[in-house]
Order: sequence, then C-alpha cells, then structure tokens
Amino acid sequence: MSITLSDARIVTPDGVHHGWLTIEDGRITHVGRGPAPGNGRGLEGRIVVPGFVDIHVHGGGGAGYPAGSEEHARRTIAFHREHGTTTALASLVTAPLDHLKAAAGTLASLCAEGLLAGIHFEGPYISAARCGAHRPSLLRTPSAAEFAELIKAADGHARMFTLAPELPGALDAIRECVTSDVIAAIGHTDATFEDSMAAIDAGCTVATHLFNAMRPLNHRDPGPITATMLDDRVTVELVNDGVHLDPAVIDLVLRAVPATRVAFITDAMDAAGMPDGDFDLGSMKVEVRSGVARLAGGGAIAGSTLTMDAAFRRGVRTNGLTLPEAAQVTALTPANALGLAHEIGSITTGKYADLVILDDDLAIKGVMKRGSWITNP
Ligand SMILES: [Zn+2]
Repeated sequence: MSITLSDARIVTPDGVHHGWLTIEDGRITHVGRGPAPGNGRGLEGRIVVPGFVDIHVHGGGGAGYPAGSEEHARRTIAFHREHGTTTALASLVTAPLDHLKAAAGTLASLCAEGLLAGIHFEGPYISAARCGAHRPSLLRTPSAAEFAELIKAADGHARMFTLAPELPGALDAIRECVTSDVIAAIGHTDATFEDSMAAIDAGCTVATHLFNAMRPLNHRDPGPITATMLDDRVTVELVNDGVHLDPAVIDLVLRAVPATRVAFITDAMDAAGMPDGDFDLGSMKVEVRSGVARLAGGGAIAGSTLTMDAAFRRGVRTNGLTLPEAAQVTALTPANALGLAHEIGSITTGKYADLVILDDDLAIKGVMKRGSWITNP
C-alpha cells in the first residue's frame, strides 16, 4: 500500500523542507520538495520529524518493565508510542537474578514481536556509592557466568548493560558484552577518569544518564563525565526534564559534545503521564510530587516522568536546538547507538516510516510506525 503525505514541513538531517513524502510497505520511498505529484494526504503545513528512539525507559502510563508482567510492558509501550517513541529499549532495574531472568524472558517475547528493540539491564553490577534508586542490598559484583546467564535469558534481545567499570571483574564483563553484541554503558559509577578510559578501551560506548548517579566532575578529578564527553567512541545520555539536570548543564554538554554523540532519554518510570502519587520502581517505593519522582521519604531522584515529545520540546524551547538538531538527539543519535541508524532515526529514503507529526507548538498530532498510524493526525 502506498501513502503520500503532502504539505508538510519535513525535518531531515540537512534541514527543514516544505514538501511531501511517499511510503510503501512501511518504508519511505520518496522525499520531495514543493507540491506532491498526484493526490496526497495534506498535513496543513505541520512538522514531520522522525519517530523518537528512547534507549533508557522503565515505565509510563502507570505500568513498567521491572514488574516483569507482559500486560504492564504492553501498557508501557502503548503509552510511550502515543508520545512519539517508535523504538525503545525496555530498561530493568536492580533485582534478584531470578527475577531479572524471568522479566527478561517475558520482555524477549515482546522484542520478538517487534514491539521493543531490546532489553537494557540497569544494574545489578553498579556502585553502592552511586546506586541512586537501586536497592543497595541487591547489588552484585560482575561475573562472566552471571552475565552469560542474563544474556541467555534475554534470548538474543539483551541490548545494553549499565555497569560500574571500577568494580572487580567489570572490564571482563564489558568484553563479554562486546563479544555478545550487547552495548556496555558506564553508569551508576564512582569510576575515576582512568577507570572510565579503561572501560571505553574495553568497549563501553554509552554513558548512562550523564551526571546523574556518577562521580561528579571536579577540576582535579575529571571522572567519568569528562572521559565520556571527550571520547568520540561514546554516546552520552541526557535526561532533559528540567529536574535531573539544570538547563545550563544541558547547554554545556550540547556545546562541548557533537549532537551525533548526545542522546536524550526519558529514564521514565511508571508515573509518567499519571497524576502525582505513590509508585514502585522495582522493589523500591517511589513518591511522585509535582511530577518529580523520588524514593519515598524524600530520597534520591528515582527515574523521571518525562516523555520523548516533552524532551524534544525542551530541547528546542529551553536549549535553543534547531528542529534538525532536536531530531538528531531524540532519534538519529540513539538509533545509531543501537546500531539501527540504517533502518530508523531520520526521514530518509529507504528507512522505515517511523514518523511524528507536530503542530506549531510542537505538540503531537500524529504518530506512525512502519507506515501504520498509531495516532492518525
Ligand atoms: Zn534508569
């Protein structure tokens, strides 16, 4: 089936063009400027950006992945799709190994259905000093055997491990990730600059929520923040919700690191899209007040209530990104981090028609995945 969308402001890597695009069998087959040849579905000049790619998300719409329930996972996927996320990893949190294996098995079947791009294990191989909202008593020391078990439980769909490279055995674990075609991410870490460089040399390619839950940047102790910002092999994740990072810190990173290495993530938990209340993040109790998620009792920030469309809007309005730059950090860079940039992440002939339609206020009017409307504009 062929669909033509016309009278659109199409955001491509090389600029915004008023024009049209054609979709056949789920893929973009033509992108043209000016009036469409023949009849098209007119979009009244609305903005079309690539579907968002979220490489770090735990939940949303009152449900989440760490619970290990298929029904919860489907609700989470549906919630974020309505907010423009057409590709996502499912992020777990620190839990007993048996629980992680069972949850990974459940999520693997949804990956096989094409609903998820893979599973992200955030923990349990992280620093007790920087564990954030992860339960300290469940943290573990990396072991190659355990890594192999978790990867096996994910049935070919493990895509990322966030770990602290300063832990004993971590460098071997990173090499195990590389061998298994799983992204190793530096995060929840007290690593020094030297520890971080060793991790990057061993194969780490992502910094998990840069600045959050990691050794801070000090002028005589540059730490993982400096190492991952400087090294061209690493993509840095940013939670652009106005809570995790001051807007000036986002600006600093965006000036220091090329957009080709910056990925906005949500790190959202179940409370995204829900009224304030009490929620679970894995085995931890989380209170959400004024949209900010913290461990019960006013503790550490515990995930976010962000959605990718809101992160996109903040990037443009608060951080002054152009539309192509905002599309880069919400779609193409994270797609590239996943090794999927040949299929998704930009409005380019040959790629899947994963599209988000925005109005002048950058509010979502439509979402398409592989040529099928999730929300019809
Ligand atoms: Zn997280």
